Amino acid sequence: MKSGVFDKKAFIQSVRDNLKNLYRKTLEEADQQEIFQAVSFAVKDVINDRWLATQQVFDKEDPKIVYYMSMEFLMGRALGNNLINLKEYKEVREALDEIGLNLDVIEDQEPDPALGNGGLGRLAACFMDSLSTLGYAAYGCGIRYRYGMFKQKIQDGFQVEVPDNWLKNGYPFELHRPEYTYEIKFGGHVRTESREDGSLRFVQEDYQSVLAIPYDMPVVGYGNNVVNTLMIWDAAAKDYFELDSFDKGDYQKAVEQQNLARNLVEVLYPNDNHVAGKELRLKQQYFFVSASVQRALARYKKNHDDIRRLPEKVTFQLNDTHPTVTVAELMRILVDEEGLGWDEAWEITTKTCAYTNHTIMAEALEKWPIEIFQRLLPRIYQIVDEINRRFVLQIQERYPGDDGKVARMAILYDGQVKMAHLAIVAGYSVNGVARLHTEILKNEQLHDFYEMFPEKFNNKTNGITQRRFLMHGNPLLADWVTKHIGDGWITELMQLARLVPYASDAKAQKEFMEIKRRNKVRLAEYIKEHNGIEVDPDSIFDVQVKRLHEYKRQFLNILHVMYLYNELKANPQMDFYPRTFIFGAKAAAGYRNAKLTIKLINSVADVINNDADIKGKIKVVFIEDYRVSNAEWIFAAADVSEQISTASKEASGTGNMKFMLNGALTLGTMDGANVEMAEEVGMENIFIFGMSSEEVIAHERNRDYDPMQIYNSDEGIRKVVNQLVDGTFSPNDPGLFRDLYNSLLNTQCTQYADTYFILKDFRSYVDAQKRIVEYYQDKQAWAKSAILNTAHAGKFSSDRTIQEYVDEIWHLDHITVPDALVAKM
Ligand SMILES: *Cc1c(COP(=O)(O)O)cnc(C)c1O
Repeated sequence: MKSGVFDKKAFIQSVRDNLKNLYRKTLEEADQQEIFQAVSFAVKDVINDRWLATQQVFDKEDPKIVYYMSMEFLMGRALGNNLINLKEYKEVREALDEIGLNLDVIEDQEPDPALGNGGLGRLAACFMDSLSTLGYAAYGCGIRYRYGMFKQKIQDGFQVEVPDNWLKNGYPFELHRPEYTYEIKFGGHVRTESREDGSLRFVQEDYQSVLAIPYDMPVVGYGNNVVNTLMIWDAAAKDYFELDSFDKGDYQKAVEQQNLARNLVEVLYPNDNHVAGKELRLKQQYFFVSASVQRALARYKKNHDDIRRLPEKVTFQLNDTHPTVTVAELMRILVDEEGLGWDEAWEITTKTCAYTNHTIMAEALEKWPIEIFQRLLPRIYQIVDEINRRFVLQIQERYPGDDGKVARMAILYDGQVKMAHLAIVAGYSVNGVARLHTEILKNEQLHDFYEMFPEKFNNKTNGITQRRFLMHGNPLLADWVTKHIGDGWITELMQLARLVPYASDAKAQKEFMEIKRRNKVRLAEYIKEHNGIEVDPDSIFDVQVKRLHEYKRQFLNILHVMYLYNELKANPQMDFYPRTFIFGAKAAAGYRNAKLTIKLINSVADVINNDADIKGKIKVVFIEDYRVSNAEWIFAAADVSEQISTASKEASGTGNMKFMLNGALTLGTMDGANVEMAEEVGMENIFIFGMSSEEVIAHERNRDYDPMQIYNSDEGIRKVVNQLVDGTFSPNDPGLFRDLYNSLLNTQCTQYADTYFILKDFRSYVDAQKRIVEYYQDKQAWAKSAILNTAHAGKFSSDRTIQEYVDEIWHLDHITVPDALVAKM
């Protein structure tokens, strides 16, 4: 297997040996979890040869390295994906089959490593896959949370959060690297002393420290022997006997440091697009950033003696503002430890750090109270203060007397540290994640910065990896595509355009829709098993799966379901094509309206699914615990993809791209990457509705939107809104959904009513839903559009996105890892 020739017998022997060594069991005695472990270790053996070989190439060729700094990596299960990228998936399935084992069952034993919330974390995971596949040297840098994203249970229609103990059985794909342990210092104070040459030295004293210990996870490239590393940090306390001399005997402090280490990496904050502003979160940020920067510089210094040339070999990409302290930590090391002057250090830092913006929403912009920041990170604060002082001078020089500019742009203002401002000032690149989003950044949210640093701003439209979201998630369609156009699409997704001629071919249409149906049957079985609900695979599968957030407007979707139900109830004989509305979403644990929306969806499902009058023509399903592993199946089975965010609010979206690749038709607003999807697939093959981002922004600016007017003048809307509070869906507690009702109509609730323009877009949404059902009934037209969606999804590969980052931001060197080198390991 060393150079890619799979040997069934050797593989099975390796599995047997692993069972013997790990559990002292035979294949016949082992349970499925044990078999999963044994199979995974056998796969890791194969990976390790490539991983070692890749490291040797790094050492020999000294390529420039990107450190992708991210609080979140939503990796999903590794076993199946690793086999796919090793090009051994089918062979291993057959080999296991021959000894009576089923790879699906074995894969299902793996916990989803869910070290992320949603899109931002999944993007980081797709990027790692593409970096390896394209042959670039990269480290993903993050945190090894003991508990990842919570598991969601639905009890009585409500979300209940259950801890995700993903490390319970041990995770076979991680590698403990205690030899790369670093010390991270919090708190205390900074003493200034003079060096012999008269310059100042800053020494942090009286601090609390924790040790950062990395675990490496392999990131296997597709068919190219390249294995990059996801480096996630665990925390540990210093051994009592190894405490610094001035801490010896300070028992209280020793205990505090133990607690700090225990709490630091305990759990992922389950907020998506929202900051909670907790002190522990800032500690997490500095912890993984400091450890990663120390590691990156140590690696650089091993082979280079001129720190001034760091930007030629290292770049840090900041995934949102969460890792922005990278900038100050790098300055600290360059000035305090390497002894560089401020200007020299600044020159290096501003050529090494680049920032990706993921949101324009106020509640998601990170601002830390100076008090917390300074107390926790005293030296880092001094550095930020100096960066700010110099930047404010720069603003004043350019805009004399314009205090508004300083107020809007300073890094430190109003007692707060504005992380986005720091990232923009210190970064050499600021990118948005879809064309529309980048334009809004330049023209609205970050306009002042764009005026000052136009050259920094650029767009990198997000993407997804086709290896996981087509090959692994939808093997039937993957094989169908390969049958028609060969397998080049696996690493060059633009080749999907060669499917265009088949879109009008009757036989291809039939095959394509037959595959869609088989995937719908697979999902229907999953739903039957998990929800106990029978759904008809011949109904339209209309799907909205993503984090629950008001701006994503699951509320609009379920209000429309209520509206349809009212129509059907009023006229049971009406012409009605059967529909299945499928939802999946986790809500942040403290987000009340989001959690109430989950309850509403489940309450509506209860009433509708059990109403004999409508003869099963509408079914509503809430899939529990939406996560990467079940997502793969859901995308494969969707007819309609709901991407209905209030225009201007969704920076890009990536779920939209996964559905498109799998041949679903999008029902969406002109928001995020939907705009570019429409451009690729053509307006005939996508269903667009609602206000444009310009209209939304104009209403927000003028504050002239009045939902009451719509409520008063539209009877159909009034009826569903009233049903939120008349007990139709909560007979035992008619007031249950009062807060959702208020969010639509009551100005007391937020700054103004219906912040997300749900009633405003409602009629347009109803109309688009009508158009899409009518279209579905023209089987040929639908099949053609479905194939064209897959055929035009090429742009949305994360391979394209990563190549753009490489060409325009990172400037990495391409590496190759020859088979011959792997064979020597
Ligand atoms: C792709 C993905 C997301 C992001 O979905 P959006 O619709 O872009 O918000 C969230 N969670 C999981 C599990 C995903 O796979």
